[in-house]
Amino acid sequence: MRKKIVAGNWKMNMDLAEGLAFAEVIDTYFKSKPSKAEVILCTPFIHLQGVAAITGKGKVSLGAQNCASEPSGAYTGEVSAQMIKSTGAQYVIIGHSERRSYYHEDDRLLNRKASVAIATGLKVIFCCGEVLKERESGKHFDVVKKQLEEGLFTLSMEDFRKIVIAYEPVWAIGTGLTATPDQAQEMHKYIRDLTRVKFGTDIAEDLTILYGGSCKPSNAAEIFSKPDVDGGLIGGASLKKEDFCAIVEAI
Ligand code: PEP
Repeated sequence: MRKKIVAGNWKMNMDLAEGLAFAEVIDTYFKSKPSKAEVILCTPFIHLQGVAAITGKGKVSLGAQNCASEPSGAYTGEVSAQMIKSTGAQYVIIGHSERRSYYHEDDRLLNRKASVAIATGLKVIFCCGEVLKERESGKHFDVVKKQLEEGLFTLSMEDFRKIVIAYEPVWAIGTGLTATPDQAQEMHKYIRDLTRVKFGTDIAEDLTILYGGSCKPSNAAEIFSKPDVDGGLIGGASLKKEDFCAIVEAI
């Protein structure tokens, strides 16, 4: 059976002390109440090393929210995949819609980031999803297809096995609007079918596909009950212990 995952994306929230204290709370919770899903905290870079020390022996995994597209060198202000790996993190989010839109990250660049991250030994949570106008004009399948073909489908089969896909309709991120469970299922199935055509049935069936976009305790169970939804990427609600833990438990 493929892996279930619930990942919290802290975005640019919490200073160092706040983040470490929060990670401690989450880690303690899942030590006493192990989850069926893998729980991942995707923190700002500054928290990684400290959170790794807290979660290292527990049940919670760790990820970054971005990485450089180059392995090392004169790229002032960037953080490489190897630097992330050296903190103890296992994952990195690539292609979040906030990076696509505010920092103009296109699929070619994201493909480079994914390749570098995997070569370094990180697993990648690759985000895709359409904006509202694209959904309203019926282009959402084409948009996601292009994002996957250009961002991911050039990877080798072996590298693609290190990928988790997060379908995050941009109109649902941080807006309070959520895709209906049927809308999520329809797109997740489409993504799995595309993967089957590209890489074959085994890889498609093993692929973990997360839903993201205003996921909360009140809607998580219904969304997660869909056969092609293997968990969630959680933004706002990952900053509240009760909400995040309840979403994990909805799996
Ligand atoms: C996200 O940032 O990936 C996300 C899904 O945010 P939110 O849950 O706040 O919509």
